[in-house]
Amino acid sequence: MTPEITPPQCDACTTPLKLIPAGTSKRTFKDYEAFWACPNNRECGGKTQKYVPPKPKITPDSPQQVADNINKDVKTINALKIVRENLDSVIKYLEK
Ligand SMILES: [Zn+2]
Repeated sequence: MTPEITPPQCDACTTPLKLIPAGTSKRTFKDYEAFWACPNNRECGGKTQKYVPPKPKITPDSPQQVADNINKDVKTINALKIVRENLDSVIKYLEK
C-alpha cells in the first residue's frame, strides 16, 4: 500500500503539480531524483519542486493526550466508585 500523496500546487498557476519519477536525463545523461512539475510548465513559468517521499507517521502521544487519557481513566474510576457506593447502599437497604 502506498501512502496517499497530495500534490503541491504550482507557485505560478496553482495547478496541482505532476510527479515526475526519478530517472536519467536524456540530454545530460545525469540521474535526477523525482520532482514535482507543473503540467503547464512552459506557459506559466512555475518552478519545479523537490519531491520528498512521505514517511510513515508515528506520532507519540502528546503530553496533553496522555493527560486527557489519564483524566478519562480517573473519571471512569470515579464513576465506578459511585456505582459501587450505590450498590453498597442498596445491599445495606436489602439487608435491613
Ligand atoms: Zn503552473
